[in-house]
Amino acid sequence: MKNLIFIAPHGTGKGTQCDLLVQKYNYNHIATGNMIREAISKNDDFSDKLKNIIDSGKLVDDDIILKMLNNYLEKNNLSTSIVFDGYPRNLNQALDLEKLMSQKRIKIDLVIYLKIDKEEALKRTLGRQFCPNCQRSYNIYYQDLKPKQENICDVCNTNLENRSDDTKETFDKLFNVFLKETEPVLRYYQEKNILKIIDASKSKEEIFAIIEESISDN
Ligand SMILES: [Zn+2]
Repeated sequence: MKNLIFIAPHGTGKGTQCDLLVQKYNYNHIATGNMIREAISKNDDFSDKLKNIIDSGKLVDDDIILKMLNNYLEKNNLSTSIVFDGYPRNLNQALDLEKLMSQKRIKIDLVIYLKIDKEEALKRTLGRQFCPNCQRSYNIYYQDLKPKQENICDVCNTNLENRSDDTKETFDKLFNVFLKETEPVLRYYQEKNILKIIDASKSKEEIFAIIEESISDN
């Protein structure tokens, strides 16, 4: 299957789409966020270094992420059916990835951008609730996703918890940063003619159907 990059802000259901690709097509899901969390949990010199960076409120820099990606691809001997998730998030990373991929003779076939307007993303992100008992998820801003009784799980009557610690202010900030950093990345892939924009307000089934159509090799 084609190699993909997934670009989307919070609240678009990107994670769900990646899960579907893994379940249905055996995709190799490369999420740099998970990679970093995993590396931190290892308790070696490298994890200490990462911990220091994150504790000081900085982002892990592009070179370190690139090295981790390189190691991961080599260790798992990957060249096809790859989905990159959460990377590249700026133009510098896109150029890094391009270089790495050409060294390894791996082609990025398609970049999928799940586009969502800010108001919608805000509702999806801040409205989320989940049941700590049966893991069912809800959203208070959507009629069909709302719990029948406020803050109570329909299935098991457990008190619901909020999924996100975000406030409107942090959401705004993150969303604006995302747009600002991503715009040049989108332009870059647009020029390479491999950018596919999907309207994230569609249902997850509709979105996945569009993705399925786009990833088949023929
Ligand atoms: Zn429940």
